[in-house]
Amino acid sequence: MKDRYLTDIERDVLEYIKKFATDELKPLAREIDMNEKIPESIIQRMRDLGFFSIYIPEKYGGNGLSFSLLVRAIEELSKACASTALVLDGALTLFAEPILMFGSEYLKQKYLTRIAGGAVGGLAITEPGAGSDAAGIQTRAEKRGDRFILNGDKIFITNGRISEFFIVDAVTEPGKGSKGITTFVVDANTPGLSISRDIHKIGIRGSSTVELVFSDVEVPEENVVGEVNKGFKVVMETLDAGRIGIAAQAIGIAQGALDEAIEYIKQRKQFGREISNFQGIQFMIADMATKIEAARAITYEAAALWQEHENTIKLSSMAKLFASDVAMSVTVDALQLFGGYGYTVDFDAERHMRDAKITQIYEGTNQIQRLVIARELLK
Ligand SMILES: Cc1cc2nc3c(=O)[nH]c(=O)nc-3n(C[C@H](O)[C@H](O)[C@H](O)COP(=O)(O)OP(=O)(O)OC[C@H]3O[C@@H](n4cnc5c(N)ncnc54)[C@H](O)[C@@H]3O)c2cc1C
Repeated sequence: MKDRYLTDIERDVLEYIKKFATDELKPLAREIDMNEKIPESIIQRMRDLGFFSIYIPEKYGGNGLSFSLLVRAIEELSKACASTALVLDGALTLFAEPILMFGSEYLKQKYLTRIAGGAVGGLAITEPGAGSDAAGIQTRAEKRGDRFILNGDKIFITNGRISEFFIVDAVTEPGKGSKGITTFVVDANTPGLSISRDIHKIGIRGSSTVELVFSDVEVPEENVVGEVNKGFKVVMETLDAGRIGIAAQAIGIAQGALDEAIEYIKQRKQFGREISNFQGIQFMIADMATKIEAARAITYEAAALWQEHENTIKLSSMAKLFASDVAMSVTVDALQLFGGYGYTVDFDAERHMRDAKITQIYEGTNQIQRLVIARELLK
């Protein structure tokens, strides 16, 4: 079937990414999960293959390819290893995208060129007291001369240990809620910024998740992304892109689980025949594949609209909501198809199931996605 969403060049690039994911990444995925670490050599390989530059405009050292391709890259990497996919996803949808959308020419030149060269970035919104209620953050940014001084605590920050810089939001005008928040780029090596702990998780275990502490961190005013007190819009629009990325991650996880289950049922014999002969099993894989295709339809459409600078608030949330629920149900069913063996760590079915769960939680839980969708419908 011809791929409507990609150009010929992008299709070739995607083949390249698929090959890396299948031949080089997938064989390491279980080890990455067990060791809670992605080998530096894998990240370096992704740099060498130019993955970080695909979506960055040519002006800033990238290849200027589409958001649709980026989304497909995230899907293919997630099929093999959802943790490794987050390295690229975080750097591009969460760090580069807000700079592309709202950053000054200075920020674009300074940071996008580095992402294109393979630097990793992250996004720090969540705090111990402010998760779903993102406007309830407490991290303070006080203006002093031509700088801002940041103090506060950010939790659950993806790519924490490997990021060279973060997009960070902080309160510049207390008492004004979402209208008193400003977004900054903060270099990870700025004095006063530290990692207080690594957070250990049940899934995407290879992905570094940390708690960040800001203690009198000085940030120059030219590092404001967009305008002072208008930073809430920056992070919310970033999540509109990010949620499409998470939907792609969910689709990849689900497809990876289904592919392995199909392999298994074609060779596992019970009652004298391969279990793939039983209609009860065939109906399961038919439903799983159908759900994945439906998730793809919403997600690819959302990605194409994002590329065209259309408003995707509703569709981004729908893609993330639907694809993550599909990932959860498909991975549970995939494990079921392995019977007792699925319940062991000898097969990847259990890893896919653990990895799927996070897609229902981060970048806004699925309850929050439903609130966003309903709000858009009731406007
Ligand atoms: C592995 C991992 C990686 C992450 N990466 C990042 C990152 O890179 N950057 C970042 O900033 N954050 C990150 N997060 C944070 C993530 O986005 C938040 O955990 C998530 O938004 C939920 O916030 P919370 O954990 O505080 O839950 P809470 O907001 O406390 O929610 C608890 C429960 O209440 C529900 N709930 C809350 N409010 C409502 C409501 N109004 N209506 C109905 N239900 C509601 C929620 O859906 C949830 O089920 C990450 C989290 C994890 C676990």
